[in-house]
Amino acid sequence: MEQRLDTSKGWCCDGRTWVEHAQKDGHCCQPEGQKLEDLPVEGQRKARQRVAQGKSA
Ligand SMILES: [Zn+2]
Repeated sequence: MEQRLDTSKGWCCDGRTWVEHAQKDGHCCQPEGQKLEDLPVEGQRKARQRVAQGKSA
């Protein structure tokens, strides 16, 4: 199944997008519009990986 990376609302601290976390738990732990650069190092790395994968898919 294809999953789209919706980064319109920014990122969650764990490397998911804001939208993904919000869809799963009803809300995200981060404020909307969180930028990739503002994530903790670990989350940033995961997020960047996912962006790279999303582009090649
Ligand atoms: Zn979250």
